[in-house]
Amino acid sequence: MATIIDGKELSLKKRESISVEAGSFTVRHKRPPGLAVIQAGDDPASAIYVRNKKRACEASGIKSFDYHLKGDITQAEILTLIDRLNNDDNVDGILVQLPLPGHLNEQEILLAITPSKDVDGFHPYNMGRLLIGDPVLVPCTPTGIMCMLDEYNAPVDGREAVIIGRSNIVGKPMAILLMMRHATVTICHSHTKNLSEKVLAADIVVAATGRPHMIKGDWIKQGAVVIDVGITRTDDGLKGDVEFDKAKDRAGLITPVPGGVGPMTITMLLENTLIAAKGHVSNL
Ligand code: NAD
Repeated sequence: MATIIDGKELSLKKRESISVEAGSFTVRHKRPPGLAVIQAGDDPASAIYVRNKKRACEASGIKSFDYHLKGDITQAEILTLIDRLNNDDNVDGILVQLPLPGHLNEQEILLAITPSKDVDGFHPYNMGRLLIGDPVLVPCTPTGIMCMLDEYNAPVDGREAVIIGRSNIVGKPMAILLMMRHATVTICHSHTKNLSEKVLAADIVVAATGRPHMIKGDWIKQGAVVIDVGITRTDDGLKGDVEFDKAKDRAGLITPVPGGVGPMTITMLLENTLIAAKGHVSNL
């Protein structure tokens, strides 16, 4: 029977230390670390994420600047706003809540964020730094997962890690972080053959597909570490990618959904804002 990784508890613990550091930053630099959160339109799921991020900032001594833009905002208007925030010394991080309304060019908008304020770690500069093994701002979900592995003393060095999902925000950066810690990494995706066999060979499984319960409990190797990133809203509530009830009988460590990866992602956003803030004042 697996130990359940408590993402909420670990998150609270990390947020306490972030809060202490944000407090000393504020005293020392006479301003709090600042995060600008941009939301365009009224997507209900985005509204919940944005609200949670703003609350987490306030509770941790990070000032949030709220930009809730109308859904028909133009590309030029949003680029002008980002340019202004890039040059605002009170803003250390700029977060654009995705997805953006369809008429906007998401890639161009993310590229416009100056890399030192890219607290999501999605800018090609930050992705490139990660790829060459010299990361600065790393995407929040995979860093949160590394933090959980460390907190629960899950060995990574020399272990077989299987990641299911190859997105830029989860799968790819996760693979690099695990590789940097000397795991042997396999990335699986929608065209992968014999997925169950690959999962069965894994000491560490990271599932990030958004396909509820597609990773079956009996695919899990005895004692494996199972990290479930997937979140799908269903009529029966939130569901992860992993068949949790069966997988927990075989895994050594497993994250629940909700209460696993999700809270850690927001916590790492706070941490990235603090890292960005420290970087900005170090040049003064
Ligand atoms: P995405 O849609 O960009 O990527 C999904 C990936 O899953 C793709 O690479 C695809 O190849 C793979 N995939 C789809 N069907 C598959 C199949 N049958 N077999 C193998 N691979 C398959 O998704 P994303 O943005 O990486 O997010 C994945 C999930 O994680 C979503 O449910 C999302 O909501 C969730 N998520 C959670 C957090 C969090 O903080 N907990 C953060 C980011 C994403």
